[in-house]
Amino acid sequence: MPAVVDKALVALNNLSVRLRRTRCRPDQVLVLFAACLQRSECDRRLDGGLSNCARCGKCFVSQFLDLADRYGLQVFRATGGRDAAARGRDPNVKAIVAVACEKELRAGVFACLPKAMLARTIARPCGPCKDTTVEMDEVEAAVRWFLR
Ligand code: SF4
Repeated sequence: MPAVVDKALVALNNLSVRLRRTRCRPDQVLVLFAACLQRSECDRRLDGGLSNCARCGKCFVSQFLDLADRYGLQVFRATGGRDAAARGRDPNVKAIVAVACEKELRAGVFACLPKAMLARTIARPCGPCKDTTVEMDEVEAAVRWFLR
């Protein structure tokens, strides 16, 4: 699917989620982020869980963990669409804030329907799938939307 279509579908989804006005407790919100937000030079293997992160502050992983701690959220690092969808479908998850590229976000939105998912797109200053970035203020604003 062309990138412009992915982008339009993600924007449309975000609009429809805002219209649905889903509200939930912090522990029912899942923040799901793409594995490429981990610094590529970091030697910490996080496939076994985010507790392996040393929280050195050199990449976004520690910022996601801080955000989750601050609000009491669920947080998950996704290595691909399949495990992201499986985690999103967990019955203990009512709303999702997903942080990834448009292609993964579009797939995630459909995989997790009918759950509400606000999507935030990553930037790719080093090319695809490497040392990606995101505006954490926007991620936090999306979380707060579900907690109003
Ligand atoms: S915060 Fe530090 S230890 Fe954790 S994943 Fe990022 S670079 Fe590695």
